[in-house]
Amino acid sequence: MSEPGELPPPVLDEVSPGIYSYVQPDGTWFINNCGFVVGPDQVFVVDATSTEARTKALIAAIRSVTDLPIATLLNTHHHGDHTHGNYLFEGVTIVAHRLCREVMMQAGAIADYSATFPGVNWGDLRFAPPSLTFDGSLDVHVGDLTVQLHDVGHVAHTEGDVVAWVPDRQVLFSGDLVFHGGTPFGLFGSVQGTIEAMERLESYGAEILIPGHGPACSGDAVQAAYDDQRDYFRFVQASAQAGIAAGRNPLEQARETDLGRFGAWTDSERLVGNLHVAYREAGHNDGFDVVAAIGDMIKFNGGNMPRCLA
Ligand SMILES: [Zn+2]
Repeated sequence: MSEPGELPPPVLDEVSPGIYSYVQPDGTWFINNCGFVVGPDQVFVVDATSTEARTKALIAAIRSVTDLPIATLLNTHHHGDHTHGNYLFEGVTIVAHRLCREVMMQAGAIADYSATFPGVNWGDLRFAPPSLTFDGSLDVHVGDLTVQLHDVGHVAHTEGDVVAWVPDRQVLFSGDLVFHGGTPFGLFGSVQGTIEAMERLESYGAEILIPGHGPACSGDAVQAAYDDQRDYFRFVQASAQAGIAAGRNPLEQARETDLGRFGAWTDSERLVGNLHVAYREAGHNDGFDVVAAIGDMIKFNGGNMPRCLA
């Protein structure tokens, strides 16, 4: 198992002329993907990262390609791995879903994760919420290219998920609606809503997918990535039904569950949080509480905090 500093460096790839993916191995807790689109006079960026150092490395990667000003930064959703580094994009318009900003403003500050994820060097993080918000759709024009920002119309990974779709190039930035090779995480959203969001993603017919975590992919692997999300969350729902029928709580049910092929994915303790949500959505978790669910994930991990190498 790797330790902080042992991960391979991020990979910058021009997936289509002027469109770049920035994939951070190994895609586990707080190690997300970003991307950017370089136009004739400005740059559009998809997501910041979790730490000061990682976001500075992202900006350096952009600067390795272009000196043009960064005009716009999209937050695909409010989670810290996608937004902590916002403040390093000085003078940049930060756009997000209205509910993404609302959640961040309710928090009012960067969350202190030092207890849950000890050992991470977050850097000198400063709170920087989005400045431009929308519901539904918003087009960003980067030269001749249109980047369409779309919400999914319901709670999925979070209440304010946005994807960035470039129809002329068939490129989709899905945010955390897709974890590729890692365990999907629905604790801050909806298991059923994420399943339903896959239909929306499929409707774009993307040739190239940059997921929120894990490797980018193209061709048939795009559909396979959507199928994996759906299959996993349906598996979680079936496990929840079995647990409810047997009178087990989510933690007990997680311990009874054989993950099968999903057990090869990283961050498998997310099963516990996902079960908490699936129980709630089945009408069997009146006392649903995110903090308690995270506590159960730690218990499931034998008392260890989730492994975080950010
Ligand atoms: Zn997320």
